[in-house]
Amino acid sequence: MLTNEYVKRVYDQVQKRDGDQPEFLQAVYEVLDTLQPVIAKHPEYEANGVLERLVEPERVIKFRVAWVDDAGKVQVNRGYRIQFNSAIGPYKGGLRFHPTVNEGVIKFLGFEQILKNSLTTLPMGGGKGGSDFNPKGKSDAEVMRFCQAFMTELCRHIGQFTDVPAGDINVGGREIGYLFGQYKRIRDEYSGVLTGKGLEFGGSLARTEATGYGLCYYTQEALRVLKNDSFAGKTVVISGSGNVAIYATEKAQQLGAKVVTASDSNGYVYDPDGIKLDVVKQIKEVERGRIKEYAERVPGAEYHEGCAGVWTVPCDIALPCATQNEINEESAKALVAGGCKVVCEGANMPSTPEAIEVYKSNGLLYGPAKAANAGGVAVSGLEMSQNSYRLSWTFEETDAKLKSIMESIVAASLAAAKEYGEEGDLMAGANIAGFVKVANAMVAQGVL
Ligand code: GLU
Repeated sequence: MLTNEYVKRVYDQVQKRDGDQPEFLQAVYEVLDTLQPVIAKHPEYEANGVLERLVEPERVIKFRVAWVDDAGKVQVNRGYRIQFNSAIGPYKGGLRFHPTVNEGVIKFLGFEQILKNSLTTLPMGGGKGGSDFNPKGKSDAEVMRFCQAFMTELCRHIGQFTDVPAGDINVGGREIGYLFGQYKRIRDEYSGVLTGKGLEFGGSLARTEATGYGLCYYTQEALRVLKNDSFAGKTVVISGSGNVAIYATEKAQQLGAKVVTASDSNGYVYDPDGIKLDVVKQIKEVERGRIKEYAERVPGAEYHEGCAGVWTVPCDIALPCATQNEINEESAKALVAGGCKVVCEGANMPSTPEAIEVYKSNGLLYGPAKAANAGGVAVSGLEMSQNSYRLSWTFEETDAKLKSIMESIVAASLAAAKEYGEEGDLMAGANIAGFVKVANAMVAQGVL
């Protein structure tokens, strides 16, 4: 509940201005709520207007993306890039291509990214972008033409020292390749302007695996510190079947867990013997097909219509890796009823506020997205470093840096939570630890 006068005033203003952006309001409310003890202790943040500046993007870019489909018909999509906060580094954050994308969704993602990037310990500000373009069912040539049209406008606004986009939902290696090519063609400049690039043209080893692996490193460390436990022998439910879900499954399996589910927006598969990841990779990464096909190929696996059903599968650990608000109160209760003790988030804001209440009141270990899924952008930061050095690190070197960053995020979150009287609360701790660094930089740089 918001009780601090300054915090309340800032939130009221956001509600007045952005009342039509529910996801953004949700993300802001959670953060402001947990920052209250910090605001109470540090009057300089109010004196410098830190919160009212933090919730207002430095720049919102919105543009038309016109392209021609394979049938020769003109298509028009909306493009966005929101440059939210550059206090601690150039704007950094992914691009999402999905029909649900609108300004409010990109704003919530960009806002989360500010604190997430701060937690990585690397010098990156917060930004996010994307389009309501739906790549499902589009040919490679259509995706290429769309990416070229999108970058034709975006390239005026980004640069290796200004704003460095990467992938998010439906933006992976193929899309980053087309986007990079078009940037290079227009600007005649070969630089690390995007991350998640192919290994042949400046990409980093371990970037593909980073978000999923990082999620498991974070979860393993939180389990070790808070419960003296680990993934070994645990049953894990994972939602999604994209980049984050696939590499979370791979790492959880390597750490000795049994992952029993995968899902997409139509439904989920349950494999009591443990998900065969080579089959999922073939369906999703090679054929770009639907997860339903898994049950047609693997004997003993079941397919169920409706993606929310995945939360009714009994488990010890749940790793939501699909999309925002995929776990509501009812699903959270189903998880608890099924024996779940740990929820760590691979997707951005996958739990509704009511679901988080259910985790808390039932004593679950809850690892919030901006901490638990920071591995992706962390290795993006390492890709930027390698591009600046003009060299590349080995997989082992990069993976070791990722692991130590994720462990440091758990430590920083727990230390911040303890300092402000919220001992053991990984959510409050992540918000506070991420915020303090950005807030101090904003104060030091003056009113901008
Ligand atoms: N889209 C990812 C995220 O949510 C990665 C962003 C990046 O690598 O810049 O953090």
